[in-house]
Amino acid sequence: MLDKKKIKEKLEKERDILLEQLRDMGKLNPETGEWEATPEEQDTPEADPNEMADRFEDFEAKSSMIKTLAPRLNDILRALKSVNRESFGKCEVCKKDIEDDRLEANPAARTCKEHLEG
Ligand SMILES: [Zn+2]
Repeated sequence: MLDKKKIKEKLEKERDILLEQLRDMGKLNPETGEWEATPEEQDTPEADPNEMADRFEDFEAKSSMIKTLAPRLNDILRALKSVNRESFGKCEVCKKDIEDDRLEANPAARTCKEHLEG
């Protein structure tokens, strides 16, 4: 039997961690609903080319982290919305129950092991 309460707690915990990481690196654009990296504050008016490059690298690194974390957060949020539904924990492809150990490892999983996404 699926322990939805436990799964929900796990999802909420993961959501909080992801939100914290994302807020460290960027902000949610309320218009697009997308996370965007925030550039480092410019503390010197004179632009040093090395510093500019560092800043750009930092921004790029943040952007790529956000690209990894934001879809994960969306998966978690979607799972949280559907956790109380009858269909939760069923494979989207074959409609069978997703294996408990798979849900344990990834509570946002939408398919069984046979129909692993991506
Ligand atoms: Zn399946």
